[in-house]
Amino acid sequence: MDKKDIKSFSFDELNNEIVSMGEKSFRAKQIYDWLHVKLVRSFDEMTNLSNDLRSRLKEAYTLTTLEIVRVQESKIDGTRKYLFKLPDGNLIESVWMIYKHGNSVCVSSQVGCRMGCKFCASTIDGLERNLLTSEILDQIYAITLDTKDRVSNVVVMGSGEPMDNYDNTVKFVRMLSDEHGLNISQRNITVSTCGLVPKIYDLANEDLSITLAISLHATTDEKRRNLMPIANKYSIKEIKEACLNYFDKTGRRLTFEYSLVGGVNDTDEDAEELADILREVNGHVNLIPVNPIKERDFVSSTDKRVAAFKNKLEKKQINVTIRREMGRDIDGACGQLRRSFLQEQ
Ligand code: SAH
Repeated sequence: MDKKDIKSFSFDELNNEIVSMGEKSFRAKQIYDWLHVKLVRSFDEMTNLSNDLRSRLKEAYTLTTLEIVRVQESKIDGTRKYLFKLPDGNLIESVWMIYKHGNSVCVSSQVGCRMGCKFCASTIDGLERNLLTSEILDQIYAITLDTKDRVSNVVVMGSGEPMDNYDNTVKFVRMLSDEHGLNISQRNITVSTCGLVPKIYDLANEDLSITLAISLHATTDEKRRNLMPIANKYSIKEIKEACLNYFDKTGRRLTFEYSLVGGVNDTDEDAEELADILREVNGHVNLIPVNPIKERDFVSSTDKRVAAFKNKLEKKQINVTIRREMGRDIDGACGQLRRSFLQEQ
């Protein structure tokens, strides 16, 4: 029989598992605490369990951990980019960022990605596989152990499309915010999607208070199709309707991401159209000057253009921030560190 992944069980599921082994409920509580608060990396570290119970756990369960393959630290702002090896040898990236309001971690949700956005390095070799719930959690746990510092915000904005790994992503959010685990407030968790419309409707019914971010990147379907293949499947109109429903159901305002690509989506006209869309959905926008990847010839908008674009939106009373570029001196854009490592091998 295949061993089960112990770290992917929710608190209630773990309780059922342990009770069905003939153990008392409080044992499950102890084990959950070792896994999700004390962040141990082996059953042998669970010192308040008997040797016998530890052996039985080892026989029935795997305890996944991530191995740090490489860490790049920015000399500018202390951002740390981690390259992790999964138990099956696959590689993923996560990022640690230090902000005034607390430390933030950006996690990956898949190995690779099948969405095909033109400017994104994560998607070039397609999707390898979904991450398990434990493997998404482990990115935060490994970084917490390495930095010895508390994570206060989490963004699911690394490699992969979280809504294409829906069940594991939702479970990850619940377990990360569970009072028996790291207990990170759902208000401090953001999940970003390129716009899988049916999943936005599903997510609205999960009773979560996370922030949903939508990667828009263009203001007309035609322009969006040139950057994001998913736009062939869902129109901006359908995305807007799904967002209004999400706001209706959750009361949470949505964030929109808009990567500025020089000469492609950064004109004054684009800004005006974007303002109209944002007003309709009552959302605010994060502008991200595109981080050029060497496999594609997109260039970033000039600083002057970024400022003018922001100005235009503000004149229309739109709430706008420019994503501070963290770790520009390291392989900052999604999927770049993994790619450059793989190419060296
Ligand atoms: N799949 C999810 C989350 C992953 S990426 C999504 O599409 O939202 C997080 C954000 O970074 C997305 O808005 C994505 O479009 C953007 N992004 C990816 N590569 C980029 C690059 N090279 N420069 C700027 N933004 C990029």
